[in-house]
Amino acid sequence: MLKRRPSGTERKSREWVKVGIPRFLNVWGTAPFWTAFFQSLGVGKVVFSSETSEEQYRTYGKGRVTMDSCYPVKALAGHIGELLHKDINLLVVPMIYSLPSFLKGYVQDTLSCTRVMMAPENIKAGFLREGDEFAKRGIRYVSPFVPFGEPELLPLYLYRALRSAIEDITMEEVKLAVEEGFKALREFDRKARELSLKIIRWCTTNNRPAVLILARPYHMDPGIGHEIDAEFQLLGYPVLWYNYLPLEDWLLNWLFGKDVEEGRIRHPLDISDVWTSSYSSNTNEIIWGAKFGSRLPWITAVIRLSSYECGMDQPTFTPVQRIVESSGTMFFKFGELDETKPSGSVRIRVETIAYYLQQYSQKIIEAKLKRLPPVPHQLVVY
Ligand code: SF4
Repeated sequence: MLKRRPSGTERKSREWVKVGIPRFLNVWGTAPFWTAFFQSLGVGKVVFSSETSEEQYRTYGKGRVTMDSCYPVKALAGHIGELLHKDINLLVVPMIYSLPSFLKGYVQDTLSCTRVMMAPENIKAGFLREGDEFAKRGIRYVSPFVPFGEPELLPLYLYRALRSAIEDITMEEVKLAVEEGFKALREFDRKARELSLKIIRWCTTNNRPAVLILARPYHMDPGIGHEIDAEFQLLGYPVLWYNYLPLEDWLLNWLFGKDVEEGRIRHPLDISDVWTSSYSSNTNEIIWGAKFGSRLPWITAVIRLSSYECGMDQPTFTPVQRIVESSGTMFFKFGELDETKPSGSVRIRVETIAYYLQQYSQKIIEAKLKRLPPVPHQLVVY
């Protein structure tokens, strides 16, 4: 049943507001929230920048970066520069402090990387030093503080940031828009996890291996992750992403039931047995993904992606590799990903890994199956 908007909060038409949002960092993974949020506020349109590319960075971003950083942060300059050439009058660059996470309640916190949070301010500086590039084009730059991990605080921060640009906005409207944003995000998440379950069912039924990607959500961006996942798909290997794995109780109990029974963890989503400083959301999910991948028989290779100069990933490399390899699952890392895609070397490495997948997957599947109770009937498609 459709929920009626409380009286006094009828959707206003704000056709004149044209919102631009850079497709950067943790906007990957939260974009459905932003689209639904601004649609609920009745804006004229919401435009995202293109996916990251070398061309975008060279044309719009280079020379605007004021500090050295990892490429996913520097790439924001290209996104902002590109949006300045679009028909928008409100540029929204969220300062994402914490993230919505399925691990909430089982970890210490769901914070984003400090560079993710500060990127909007750092990169903005490059567009101000020779004059205000936003004002010159009649564009309002707004960078709301976004604590996704504390949804009850979100309306207040978004309202405070937006009221300077949209003067008739009310707190009630923002509260409703936040609800609609989260609803859209939950629905996207549900569909993505459903698709992952479909892939796993296909692998189970056909006894075929799959590859699991452990990365940051923005490595889904072709210009950041260099489409390494797509290379595996081209060779016929289904690909699963750690952040959209299925969370059905029967599946998690099959994979983690013994650990819970024997007291190693208190719940299938608990990672305290392998990771004690569980503050960073993406890191926590990578660690949990490694545990999932080491247990699910049809994941026979785990592929780790990481960007050049990523300080957050450094401490996780060894634990993740150990978790994966201790189960006999193959582990491969593409580290130091930067601005340029080394197409030739990526292809050679993917083909080499595909050779190993072909050679060893059946043995790995059999060995992993032996360590688990019988396969749940829900996984097999008859
Ligand atoms: S997690 Fe790594 S790649 Fe991502 S913003 Fe932080 S330092 Fe950069």
